[in-house]
Amino acid sequence: MKLNELKVSNPYLALDPEFYERVKPDPLEKAHLIHVNKTVAKTLNIDEEELESEDFVRLLNGEFEAEGSDPFAMCYAGHQFGHFVPRLGDGRAINIGTIDKFQLQLKGAGITEYSRMGDGRAVLRSSIREYLMSEAMTNLRIPTTLCLGIIGSEHPVSRQGIEETGAIVCRVSTSWVRFGTFEYFAANGEFEKLKALADYVINENFPHINGRPDPYKLLFNEVMVITSRLLAQWMSVGFNHGVMNTDNMSIAGLTIDYGPFAFLDDFKHGNVCNHTDTEGRYSYESQPAVSKWNLERLMKALSPLTPIEGMEKLLSIYDKIYARYTHYYMCKKLGLEGTVEGDPDLIDDMYDMLEKLKVDYTLFLRTLSHYKHKGDRSDLLATALYHEPMNEWLDVYDERIKYIDPTERRNQMLNVNPKYVLKNYMLQEGIDAAEKGDFSVVDNLFKIAKQPFEEHPEFERWAKATPKEFRNQRLSCSS
Ligand code: AMP
Ligand code: MG
Repeated sequence: MKLNELKVSNPYLALDPEFYERVKPDPLEKAHLIHVNKTVAKTLNIDEEELESEDFVRLLNGEFEAEGSDPFAMCYAGHQFGHFVPRLGDGRAINIGTIDKFQLQLKGAGITEYSRMGDGRAVLRSSIREYLMSEAMTNLRIPTTLCLGIIGSEHPVSRQGIEETGAIVCRVSTSWVRFGTFEYFAANGEFEKLKALADYVINENFPHINGRPDPYKLLFNEVMVITSRLLAQWMSVGFNHGVMNTDNMSIAGLTIDYGPFAFLDDFKHGNVCNHTDTEGRYSYESQPAVSKWNLERLMKALSPLTPIEGMEKLLSIYDKIYARYTHYYMCKKLGLEGTVEGDPDLIDDMYDMLEKLKVDYTLFLRTLSHYKHKGDRSDLLATALYHEPMNEWLDVYDERIKYIDPTERRNQMLNVNPKYVLKNYMLQEGIDAAEKGDFSVVDNLFKIAKQPFEEHPEFERWAKATPKEFRNQRLSCSS
């Protein structure tokens, strides 16, 4: 489709005006295209030639109005670091329309009535992080919001006294509703609107529930199951989100709102990636429990629509569901066939061993994928300074994989253990170059984000353990 044939709809605007504010994007000065995601463009049925046009930059800059355009920002509440904030909302993201089931949103496109003290902007570095990371997660097969493209600009934006430049990512998702959207209407006692929101979400994301008895309990069940699966996937790749506030929890079970996230460097249960998270509330190991706590907030918000006892019963099996998913993903990563009694211990012991030896999580699992037999341990042992605990663990592992076909195991493991994940030091390399006007590193990072399980000999350096000086660092939330 040509851009001038583009038609958008806005189903969210059928809800009560309290759900949103109609607001026009405020374009950035001197915007230029940094990168476009051709796969996402194809999903949206936008012709490839159009992606190089001026109009495409104007679309991402909020200047190009597609037919049916009626931009708006969404209202929501949320528990931030455990404290309820009754009114948040899109303070810098503006929805510009839906194409099929995909909702386009410009992050950093100016002030809305939910901006509070913020300037409605997003800086280049955080936009690059979100842009690349959504592609990386997609190809790790982890549910996530997507990005169509990213533009930079000469628009001055100040963060913590430092002058930076503004950027916009055009985010694409099948839902922008958050747990906090439900909390907003529940806290205000507006149960009709709460019901309208639940019906909207069911229609949009869980149509199979439609018309079934007690749909709101079923809705809670669906969200609980997809959230627990998402968490198991995050944990299995060593992803630490960093800001799991309820306003950053997607009702559609997607990874949403990329901020000071990190992939683990050395394996560390208690890894904290968010500099402002002094208590470690959102540490790597806390994530499954935090998501359960967040689901409890959602449950309370939904309780005017369905008896809470039913949802409590469902939530009481959250740990079991999460453990099942984790077991499933980790057995795949270790190449284990079937189920053997000692498997959970084997997995836990691996984590403890990696933490004790400060081994790079991604590198270890990728190297383990190539591991053949006892006489072939040198590459694995080279990932650690001391060998004994790893040898001990490998002895147990050898015993477990004894009857599994080695070629099949290898092929399966190479398909689930990425060679490349976007560690923070790599993203920072891309950002440092981009801030000087060189986007070639961003291009290269996009290539590995697109094919994380492939070899890419030219980027071998990024498949090694994170350089010591960059390991397990914390990032500031300021974005
Ligand atoms: P985040 O940490 O990006 O998920 O944002 C939390 C809340 O703060 C959301 O309501 C955002 O819309 C809002 N926010 C973050 N940064 C800005 C900004 N620069 N201007 C306006 N609102 C912002
Ligand atoms: Mg957010």
